[in-house]
Parts: sequence; structure tokens; C-alpha cells
Amino acid sequence: MAMNRRDTFKLAGIAAVTAAMPGVAMASEKAEAVKKTNGKSVVVIGGGFGGLTIAKALKKLDKSLEVTVIEKNNVFMACPFSNTLLGGLDNVALDNFVGDYYQPSAAHGYSFVNATVTAIDKAAKTVTTTEGSMSYDILVLSPGIAYDYAGQFPKWSKEKIAEVSQACPAGLIPGNEHIALKRQLEDMDDGNIIIVPPAKGKFRCPPAPYERTSMVANYMKNEGIKGKVIVLDNKDGAFAKAAAFKESWADLFPDIIEYKGTTEVTDIDPKAKTITYIEYANIDDTKGVVKTEKYEVCNFMPNNKCSPVIEMAGIKTNGAGYAIMDGVSFRSATDKNIYVIGDAVTHGIPPSGQTAIWCAHRAARQIVDQMNGKANDPAAGLPANAANVCYSMVGGKPEEAIMVTHEFILGPNNTMGSVASVPKPKDGNGKFRSAGTAKATREWFKGVMREMFA
Ligand SMILES: Cc1cc2nc3c(=O)[nH]c(=O)nc-3n(C[C@H](O)[C@H](O)[C@H](O)COP(=O)(O)OP(=O)(O)OC[C@H]3O[C@@H](n4cnc5c(N)ncnc54)[C@H](O)[C@@H]3O)c2cc1C
Repeated sequence: MAMNRRDTFKLAGIAAVTAAMPGVAMASEKAEAVKKTNGKSVVVIGGGFGGLTIAKALKKLDKSLEVTVIEKNNVFMACPFSNTLLGGLDNVALDNFVGDYYQPSAAHGYSFVNATVTAIDKAAKTVTTTEGSMSYDILVLSPGIAYDYAGQFPKWSKEKIAEVSQACPAGLIPGNEHIALKRQLEDMDDGNIIIVPPAKGKFRCPPAPYERTSMVANYMKNEGIKGKVIVLDNKDGAFAKAAAFKESWADLFPDIIEYKGTTEVTDIDPKAKTITYIEYANIDDTKGVVKTEKYEVCNFMPNNKCSPVIEMAGIKTNGAGYAIMDGVSFRSATDKNIYVIGDAVTHGIPPSGQTAIWCAHRAARQIVDQMNGKANDPAAGLPANAANVCYSMVGGKPEEAIMVTHEFILGPNNTMGSVASVPKPKDGNGKFRSAGTAKATREWFKGVMREMFA
């Protein structure tokens, strides 16, 4: 086959990667040519919150480990705090959310491969990517979530799904979608913004749609845009940090935010910029009234499912593809050499960046103990107080935020669960929100970026 100049460069790139990483072989080589590991090789799939944290933690715990992160994106982008970018808060820019993968890998001595994982052979202990294959001794999966448009709207064609996902970006997966939403807000005329939280099942960062509601309302107010932020929800007001959000909406944006808690979206027409939904009088109403609303910007968040990478690994999963775990550990219930962290687990803990970091540290300890033949008690340290702390910015001028903390606990039958608490801060004058909590929100975000990058 003839090779052009571009192909030559591409191959030179792969060869360089191969030389740097003993486990990596060329994609075109036969499976048996995949190089053997040194017996201490950990391959991490996903360079997000869980993946970057565990790669660094593993190297810190045991320098002799050979750690490789495989990530399909070539730029890191954070989801947490990104609603403040949409809200137009002072001193928040895209720069705050992005990072290059070379920096932490060089600083902590792990390898980075920019490739998409396409297959996992757990019997052969190999991972196939678009740039080559590699062997592992321990595999860590932190691939995050995927969208389930097809399950939610079985009648929508592939083309319709592509059209809606691009015209009404969900903004729950890092990258392009947040930037598209920001552009749409900047380009919009007077009119309404529609926000549709995921309708069913576990979804990434349960407070995120409601924080976004506050932030886009803040943007409309400050820019003098005439219109409403209409939330088409089906949770009848029972969502994450609900009392705290509702208090701030009533106090700060009473004429802008309109929350409808018993609706079901049935169609979106991106060309006409309309959304059609059934509005029920209450949760017992089965008939409802069909309504169509014109929008300027529509942030439609479909139901979530787990990233397909988990199923590629052939480990036990639940109906939505999330990994079934071995008790309270971060190991798969069905493969002792595969660990799963972040949003992809079925533990009863909230899918958040902070949780992913917490998981990553525990899993790192478990992996290092397993590789060094040491005993490990996966329940050690439980209950863990404030294992997850999640902030949501609710106002921009003055900047104010609310928070929830979760204690992670040992549940019945060796399961992991969590207990939430939404405190009122001392500086809140009896309200859930405060300027001090907003300051803590900014500090928290800087802290998690340091955790992964510094
Ligand atoms: C708007 C918003 C606000 C949020 N706010 C907060 C907050 O305030 N606090 C908080 O704690 N959390 C927050 N979160 C949640 C947080 O972002 C996620 O829970 C966290 O990123 C989960 O980490 P993860 O490692 O499981 O997945 P991710 O961070 O998504 O990482 C998964 C990585 O795997 C890669 N990947 C997937 N498939 C493949 C493949 N086949 N090959 C190679 N790479 C692959 C992806 O590209 C991605 O980089 C927020 C999320 C959103 C969307």
C-alpha cells in the first residue's frame, strides 16, 4: 500500500510512542506480537477525573509500576465549575478548564497514549486502541458516561439524534458541548432558554442541570436578555439540593426561572427551534396537555448510560452498563485484574468528580497491595465523612453558592452507600447560599485541578 507524507508522520508518531512504552505494539502487528509486560503494568482507560488521579496516585505509592493512561481526547477539559463559564462570572475563562496531558504524565512518570480504546480481551489481558495494542497486568477503567438518546427516543433516527445532540448540546461530557452552549448563549436574542435534565436513571452530577439553570439565569439578567429559563423536569421538585436551589431561584431570579416538575419531552425540532412536551397537572395525572415552546437555546440532557468501554471489558454490569463491583472494593465482581472507578461504578455513591478522586485513591491502594501480595481491607475507613463535597454556584452578583456533603457508608450485604446533607453556612444569614460557600467553590475547583495536574 502506498504511503503519503501524512501517513509517514503518523507512523513515526506511533513508533515513538512504542519506544517510550514497553507494552505498546503497532496496530498492524498480530495479537501475539503485543509485547509482554514487566509484571507490574497498570493500564488506565480514560484520562478524566478518575483516570488522571489514579495514574498519579499509583506512581506515588509504587514507583516501580509501569502506568499508562489511554485517552481519546488530546486536550483535558473539566466539567465541574463549567456552569460558571455559561453564567459569565468574573474571571472565569475557558483556560481555567483545560489542561494538556503531557504535563502530568511527565511530572509523575506515567505514560500517556492519545488513542481510542476499541476492544479489550480480558483473557489475553490486552487492550486494543486506534493506535496499537498493549498488554496489562491490572486494568483500570474510568471511561465515564455515554448518552442514551436511542433508549429514550426509540423512534428517532440516527440522523435526528445527531441533529438534536449538536443543536441542543447536553453539556454533560467534557469538551465541545460546553463550548457550543457558551457560543449559543452569546449569540442568542431575547427569548427563552430551555433546560431539560435527564429524565430517568442515574446521571452524572445530579445538581448540574439545576446549577446551570441558576447560571444561565444570571447570564440573562446581567446581559439584559428578555426571556425565561424554563426547566422541563419530571422530578416534581425532588432533585439534588432542591430546597437550596428553589430558595435561591425565588430570591434571585423570580421573574426569570420557571420550573415545571411534571413534564415529559416528546420531540425537539432544531430547525423550527421548538420543543414539544406533555405537561401533567401532577404526578397522578396520566393524560396531561401537549405543549410546544419556542426557544433560543435548548440544553437537552438525555438519559445517561455507562460508557461502552465497561461492556468491552466483558465484566459483569447492570442494565445500564455500569460495573458490578466486588463488595465495597473498586474491583470488578467478575475479574480480579480489572478495577473500575468514577461514574462507571454501581456503588451507591454520587457520580461526581470528587467521588472519582476518592475512588481513585482507594483503588490505587488496593491495586498496589494486590500487586505486592499484601492484604487489603476494602471497607477500611468506612464510614468516610464528607467523602463527597459538591458545590453549586447559584448567583453571580454577588457570587453565592450552595453545597451538599455525602458521607460514604457500609450498607447492607457488603454494599457501599451514602448519606447526604445540605448544610446552611454560618455566613448565610439563615439561607442555604452564601458568599463564603462561593469562595469555597472556586477553591475546590482549583484544588481538584491541582490534584490531577500539579
Ligand atoms: C456540568 C457539570 C458540572 C459538574 N460539577 C461537578 C462538581 O461541581 N463537583 C464534582 O465533584 N463533580 C462535578 N461534575 C461531575 C464530574 O465531572 C464527573 O463525575 C467526573 O468527571 C467523573 O469522572 P470519570 O473519570 O468517571 O469520567 P470523566 O472525567 O468523564 O473521564 C472519562 C474519560 O474517558 C475517556 N474515554 C471514554 N471512552 C474512551 C475510549 N473508548 N478510549 C479512550 N478514552 C475514553 C473520555 O474521553 C474522558 O476523558 C460535573 C459534571 C458536569 C457535566
